[in-house]
Amino acid sequence: MIDTRILEITAELAKADNIVIVPHKGPDGDAIGSTLGLMHFLRDKGHKANVIAPNDYPHFLKWLPGSEEVYIYEQQKEISDQLIAEAQIVFTLDFNDLSRCGGMVESLKASDAVFVMIDHHQEPSDYAHYTYSDSTMSSTCEMVHKFIEKLRAGKQITPEIATCLYTGIMTDTGSFRFSSTSSDTHRVIADLMDKGAKNSEIHNNIYDTNSGNKLQLLGTALQNLKVISEFNTAYISLTQEELDRHNFKKGDTEGFVNYGLSLDGIKFAVIFIENESEKIIKISFRSKGTFDVNKFARAHFEGGGHINAAGGKSDLSMNDTIVKFNKILPEYEQELTQ
Ligand code: 5GP
Ligand code: MN
Repeated sequence: MIDTRILEITAELAKADNIVIVPHKGPDGDAIGSTLGLMHFLRDKGHKANVIAPNDYPHFLKWLPGSEEVYIYEQQKEISDQLIAEAQIVFTLDFNDLSRCGGMVESLKASDAVFVMIDHHQEPSDYAHYTYSDSTMSSTCEMVHKFIEKLRAGKQITPEIATCLYTGIMTDTGSFRFSSTSSDTHRVIADLMDKGAKNSEIHNNIYDTNSGNKLQLLGTALQNLKVISEFNTAYISLTQEELDRHNFKKGDTEGFVNYGLSLDGIKFAVIFIENESEKIIKISFRSKGTFDVNKFARAHFEGGGHINAAGGKSDLSMNDTIVKFNKILPEYEQELTQ
């Protein structure tokens, strides 16, 4: 679809001064990398482009070039609403439904801008004028690289853009190990390195900047790990009290869920994290092979995502959430044990 309409998008871009770029709520490396990469590209072409994130994002992403210029909607509502109202184009990146951008929804719905979605989640909603959706892609950052190439502007990829896009591909593929990583992903990565992404520095900035508190919180998480071997499943829980004890900062639990999957034979790993201020248990689901956690999250925990990585939430207490989870598992016995 996007290929046949790229000329229309080019014409829209030619008319647009003001552009807003939006990642999903709780932005991760792919969401921030893709929005900032696109922001630099559009600014270099002369547009007034700004990234507005629904809420704040982890410290380990704040070294990314342009990060200091990201507007946080929750904290800067007035200026953000003004930028949205003035925008002729709104790019929504790394999510498939407007409900994923939290408190920004109303403001975005009121906008008469042309909406362009670039996203790799399944089952995209139909809110954008131009939808570039491909769930076979490793990451939205890989798609932004493709989008720039479709605009015949590959030569305009600067070291800043390359750094942002490399980062999101790296974080969304678990450093190029998930099955969503294709030979094409590696070709894109090679091109980004040629254009100035410094791989070793990026890995260091993302993975080797832990605080002592974070590592101790990981210790608590691993002590809470439970294995349900009859369903090849493992889960971790962290209560608000445990988070507080280790001076939890946004992003500190990133990647913890993967420890469950690293156990021999485990196909399904889950982490339940209490969020007292939102009165929810936030849940991350990960799987190996064909067990579809997107379907599982949609069916039982108001969430979604991809086949092997999804998220959701529960309004019950931590204990009741875990009881509910344990009750559901037998329904999936066949898929989990085949
Ligand atoms: P994470 O567990 O890292 O927060 O998210 C894993 C994947 O699931 C990401 O692609 C993320 O966008 C998606 N995801 C996380 N939480 C939700 C949610 O509440 N609803 C939906 N639809 N997707 C989610
Ligand atoms: Mn992504």
